[in-house]
Amino acid sequence: MDADVAIVGAGPYGLALAACLRAAGVDHQIFGRPMDMWQRHMPEGMLLKSDAFASSLYDPGNDLPLSRFCKERSIEYHDDLIPVRLQTFVEYGLTFKDRFAPHLEETIVDSLRQEGAGFAFNLANGTRVLARRVVAATGIGHFRYVPPPLNRLPAEFASHSYDHHDLSPFEGRRVAVIGGGASAIDLAGLLQQRGCDVQLICRREKLRFASPPQIRRSLWQRIRYPRSGIGPGLRSRLYTDAPLLFHLMPEALRQHIVSRHLGPAAGWPMRDKVVGRVAVTNGCELQAASITDGCVGLELRNRTGEAISVRADHLIAATGYRVDIRRLSYLDKSLLLRLAHATHAPVLSRHFESSVKGLFFTGPIAANSFGPMMRFAFGASFASRCLLPILSRSVAYRSSGAMAAVDGQAGK
Ligand SMILES: Cc1cc2nc3c(=O)[nH]c(=O)nc-3n(C[C@H](O)[C@H](O)[C@H](O)COP(=O)(O)OP(=O)(O)OC[C@H]3O[C@@H](n4cnc5c(N)ncnc54)[C@H](O)[C@@H]3O)c2cc1C
Repeated sequence: MDADVAIVGAGPYGLALAACLRAAGVDHQIFGRPMDMWQRHMPEGMLLKSDAFASSLYDPGNDLPLSRFCKERSIEYHDDLIPVRLQTFVEYGLTFKDRFAPHLEETIVDSLRQEGAGFAFNLANGTRVLARRVVAATGIGHFRYVPPPLNRLPAEFASHSYDHHDLSPFEGRRVAVIGGGASAIDLAGLLQQRGCDVQLICRREKLRFASPPQIRRSLWQRIRYPRSGIGPGLRSRLYTDAPLLFHLMPEALRQHIVSRHLGPAAGWPMRDKVVGRVAVTNGCELQAASITDGCVGLELRNRTGEAISVRADHLIAATGYRVDIRRLSYLDKSLLLRLAHATHAPVLSRHFESSVKGLFFTGPIAANSFGPMMRFAFGASFASRCLLPILSRSVAYRSSGAMAAVDGQAGK
């Protein structure tokens, strides 16, 4: 089996690109579990943080925006006043896959390496694939981060928020959630709804929530806080409108912006579910963690130096994701060594190509190159439109016979 282009990953970025390549007639394959991050690694009952209008998956004909999907299924929809339920988004993504990427192979890529003029990779189902170009759209799952000392606790007592979709195993149990961002706040609220005894622990002095949308906005508000695909605000609007300008900025400035812009804040609907309902320990640093008498014991210290102890049956580290190409377990070592990177994020051209010719990276891993928009499904439209022209060229390459070099090595 050969393809001009292989897409690894079937989340919003992989699926949008597949829709584009299919519409343009580019020979390609796509591999991955569709909407896997959303189906299995986000908590059931979650509401999307992104506005509904910014949560459409990109297809070049705009044939299936989220609004149309919702209308067809009689699901309540409003561009920004009604939050999108996780379940709705998953069903939408799977319908999008059926319509625009029906050829998707639901399997995992075990290993990827360069071979001849292209790439060879082994699939978990035992098949070997050759492709002229590869687009890695494998999301953030590989990059989940658990800080020490929590990363030394046994899995029975501690896990990452990525590990939980079904929250029913926690019913009636004491659960400590560590983190101050949307994942932590969402989880704490949803666990509380499930009848858990939840303790939310975070370094910040106060939990932050996005402001609820306003039905009517004054002219000044519309100028000062223009709508954007990653939330209202002048800067957000600049980053969503001009990702190629962002790409031209100095590396250090880009990294600074990506690490600072849109700090940890939960969606506005979570405020009522968390404030006054969930026990919150703010403004404290974790000092030690241990297992005693079948429980997790956490030693914390607050700003005034006071020691606080927390005990729970289980601890969930909602401590986020840190991009690091060394954690892409499917990348062959020799390929990894040749990848230019800046603080372990791949250095990408304006067409998302890495320093290894023919190997592209898209999705949140490209945020340091193209800005905060890449951390959201919204960025998939821009990424797909950037990738399309360069990937379309591979058709010409193949028809010139250059693919034969790869085919030859496969013994075909
Ligand atoms: C709790 C939480 C809430 C979020 N809420 C929002 C939100 O409201 N709005 C928003 O826009 N973004 C949100 N995000 C960010 C969101 O995860 C990303 O925007 C989005 O998933 C990126 O899409 P993607 O296609 O790059 O990756 P993903 O959706 O993560 O998809 C990755 C794909 O790669 C596949 N894959 C991975 N490794 C391999 C391999 N070796 N071989 C084959 N396939 C592989 C997976 O199976 C999957 O199909 C949230 C993130 C979290 C953690």
